[in-house]
Amino acid sequence: MARTVKTTCPYCGVGCGVLATRQPDGAVSVKGDPDHPANFGRLCSKGSALAETLSLDDRLLHPEINGARASWDEALDLVAARFSDAIAEHGPDSVAFYVSGQILTEDYYVANKLMKGFIGSANIDTNSRLCMASSVAGHRRAFGSDTVPGTYEDLEQADLVILTGSNLAWCHPVLFQRLEAAKAANPALRIVTIDPRRTATSALADLHLGLAPDTDVALFNGLLSYLSENGYLDEGYISRHTNGFEEALGAAGACDISRISEETGLSRQDIARFFDLAARTEKMVTVYSQGVNQSVTGTDKVNAILNVHLATGRIGRAGMGPFSVTGQPNAMGGREVGGLANMLAAHMALEDPAHRSLVQSFWQSPRIADRPGLKAVEMFRAVREGKIKALWIMATNPVDSLPDADGVAEALKLCPFVVVSDVTRAADTMDYAHVALPGAAWGEKDGTVTNSERRISRQRRFLELPGEARPDWWALSEVARRLGYADAFAYNGSAAIFREHAQLSAIGNGGTRDFDIGAMADLSAGAYEELPPFQWPARAGQSLHDSRFFARGGFFTPDRKARFIAVTPIELRKRERKYPFVLNTGRIRDQWHTMTRTGKTARLTSHIAEPFAEIHPEDAAALGLRDASLVEVKSSYGAVIVRAQISDRGNKGTVFVPMHWTDQFSSKGRVDAVVAPETDPHSGQPGSKFTPVSLKAVPAR
Ligand code: SF4
Repeated sequence: MARTVKTTCPYCGVGCGVLATRQPDGAVSVKGDPDHPANFGRLCSKGSALAETLSLDDRLLHPEINGARASWDEALDLVAARFSDAIAEHGPDSVAFYVSGQILTEDYYVANKLMKGFIGSANIDTNSRLCMASSVAGHRRAFGSDTVPGTYEDLEQADLVILTGSNLAWCHPVLFQRLEAAKAANPALRIVTIDPRRTATSALADLHLGLAPDTDVALFNGLLSYLSENGYLDEGYISRHTNGFEEALGAAGACDISRISEETGLSRQDIARFFDLAARTEKMVTVYSQGVNQSVTGTDKVNAILNVHLATGRIGRAGMGPFSVTGQPNAMGGREVGGLANMLAAHMALEDPAHRSLVQSFWQSPRIADRPGLKAVEMFRAVREGKIKALWIMATNPVDSLPDADGVAEALKLCPFVVVSDVTRAADTMDYAHVALPGAAWGEKDGTVTNSERRISRQRRFLELPGEARPDWWALSEVARRLGYADAFAYNGSAAIFREHAQLSAIGNGGTRDFDIGAMADLSAGAYEELPPFQWPARAGQSLHDSRFFARGGFFTPDRKARFIAVTPIELRKRERKYPFVLNTGRIRDQWHTMTRTGKTARLTSHIAEPFAEIHPEDAAALGLRDASLVEVKSSYGAVIVRAQISDRGNKGTVFVPMHWTDQFSSKGRVDAVVAPETDPHSGQPGSKFTPVSLKAVPAR
């Protein structure tokens, strides 16, 4: 008989519910779950093609040591021995984990616990660093915690939705579909897009602001000044619930539209129209994503946005609030368990001795990391410098996806011991593994993920584990056992891990259980199995419900007030003559990350079949480029050769190249080898949307 399981899409941070049906002959079909509050039955092109990605082609089915098949015991013994030797000889900071927003919250929890509590280093970071670290840093600066205030419904209840640095139509398609439906139902709803490129998202906009790259702070500072000078502040909210307004306003300066126009490249009329809309429309949501986060000034951009919402009290109320949407399916779950190098667990702070003591005592661990570890880019730099002796990479492909990707490959070549846990051999990172561990793929693993609106949903198993594949939490626990920590990692399944995470969350909030998922501390295995999607805070004794934060203050700072952050625009980097263009990278609609999954389906590949460089017509003419001719995009780090796509979607002087194609899929190079490994000083997030490059026509042979 056919069996249908409720699970969650493994791609983007919208976190859509999926009904996966398995027929007796093994065939699988998927459709949107009509009861899931993220998507109400909708799926996008990627989600609806999930069943086509389940083949075992390219699967890693057995552990391997130096490319030869090995047993799990042999592989795990070797991993434990090499990590143990490195720690004994060089100290805990000589080892590191690099994990992923693809792994489940339970895997994240165990990896974080092992590294921070038992190995005693904070050298665990994640590819989510590339996705939303600037939002985390901005939230913590302003709110005292990494808390997203709003819900998806806010986009439907707003009268003005500002999408800045977000191509929602391609990167969060189901949320975009909800916004399209809201616009159709509410003729008063206005949409503004702020992006150096006109995208599929801007097609829905009433106003598109094609600002110069990395000038968002100037625009939002200008808006703050405009609101102040024209009487649109919520003085009551500012005085009751915030600190630091005068300093932030002082840093923003007077609202000089001519100056803002010069700084951003926008017309004075467009700026004035935007400011007027934002001032007069009470119900305003600002959605932001990688165009804000992936910048060397990303955290300041986030705070410039938060300042505007705090100054007008438009936060945590229906149809009002700043809203960071995450790229990955479980970027948020990783944040909740502290699976980043500068976080602890359950929203506690690594820098707070009381929090460290609380977590250590809960874990009964022999030690606790007491300073931040290496963030993604720093981690691979340290590997290259010989400071990391053993590295475990889990469910991510840094050789293709990190900036300066050639430098990352070089680092892995030099690293004495590299473990790669993954489901696929198609990830180029596999080539550098001394030990390869077969992970469980979507449909085979079991646990939870958290979407962009703090909604926790179950990923459920509907396929048997193929070959000797195992969940990541199991492999981590087995290594922990071999390192001498059997009791602390004696989990019999993901429910036990989730319960422990919930217990720590409750304790971390003074036992009140009304923050994060504290109310789930006593969840039975059966209730975990049946767990419906829910948003935190899930308060004990109450039904699971949606809620928002901060309409009446209650921030997580010591005085419970939000902090305005004084931010100033950075001077645009002077471009070298050698590299006169700005490279911007990003996603396309039908591919996911480095295509190890979406590259398997012809339906998705047919949308855009090969990589391209989107170049302004005037630049193309000056360079002698025609549509579809080959062009070399080169920085001081590396080069890629792709086809030119001549278009005025982007500004003159900029070039856009999608991030997905790798050596496996493209004819010549991968774009992350070109991207500069420069990072935001507060968040450590790379500025993947601003690399100075040269463009050169490549003669056809
Ligand atoms: Fe999956 Fe995101 Fe598409 Fe939803 S919008 S189906 S979560 S890729």
